[in-house]
Amino acid sequence: MTDEDRSGAASAEQSIAIEMIALNKWFGAYHALRDIDLLVERGERIVICGPSGSGKSTLIRCVNGLEAHESGRIIVEGTELTSDLRQSHEVRREVGMVFQHFNLFPHLTILENCTLAPIHVLKMDRAEAEAAAMHYLGKVQIPEQADKYPGQLSGGQQQRVAIARALCMNPKIMLFDEPTSALDPEMVKEVLETMVQLARDGMTMLCVTHEMAFARQVADRVIFMDAGAIVEINRPEAFFSSPKHPRTKLFLGQIL
Ligand code: ADP
Ligand code: MG
Repeated sequence: MTDEDRSGAASAEQSIAIEMIALNKWFGAYHALRDIDLLVERGERIVICGPSGSGKSTLIRCVNGLEAHESGRIIVEGTELTSDLRQSHEVRREVGMVFQHFNLFPHLTILENCTLAPIHVLKMDRAEAEAAAMHYLGKVQIPEQADKYPGQLSGGQQQRVAIARALCMNPKIMLFDEPTSALDPEMVKEVLETMVQLARDGMTMLCVTHEMAFARQVADRVIFMDAGAIVEINRPEAFFSSPKHPRTKLFLGQIL
């Protein structure tokens, strides 16, 4: 290997956020992820869609070690996820996740929801954690709600708090698992706008969503999953205008 090759390889490695190689996962006898190969570059925005039960949640949960895989490899920001829990802890610090059902702590204020992990996990001092939390609550445009409790906020506001809370950990990658599917239609837009802003800021994002207008607007690539496999992956223009796989065509026909 020449020096040039070597520096090429090193810079290629540095630009990779997530690498999955021949990834397989089973739940008992059920083959939930089949031979997943995926390379996500830093700053890339990926939208994952597909029918219910196709493995979308399982796939993104594997990225932050919430699900273990049985074979193949996952490397996240240079750390390979193995059965060693220290690696999943390391990776989880780099990866923020937003769920369908906000999962805020109901007995803590919005500000406390946002400062809990930075104080206890990152060992930030309280003032610094609160300043960061107010910064991100400002970014998601609800700084005035800081002293309220989650139950006093609308669904859309709670989901924006969940995004701010994840950002407070200063993640390199953000995972979204159907972040708008539990929301009333009038609240979907405000959450998507927050996600569009995050994409503009250059965040590496993996978003499971059926919001196809969002996919068209921000995705670098769209993935279609079926029965645990990636059956199609393409740039949004090509994905929507000329889907190749019959199952993708059928799916798009149903939701568009
Ligand atoms: P999606 O997010 O695309 O709807 P999931 O990743 O949640 O799909 O699930 C994929 C498949 O794996 C489904 O058939 C689901 O029932 C199964 N599954 C998911 N989680 C578990 C689990 N903890 N135990 C057993 N089966 C599971
Ligand atoms: Mg799911």
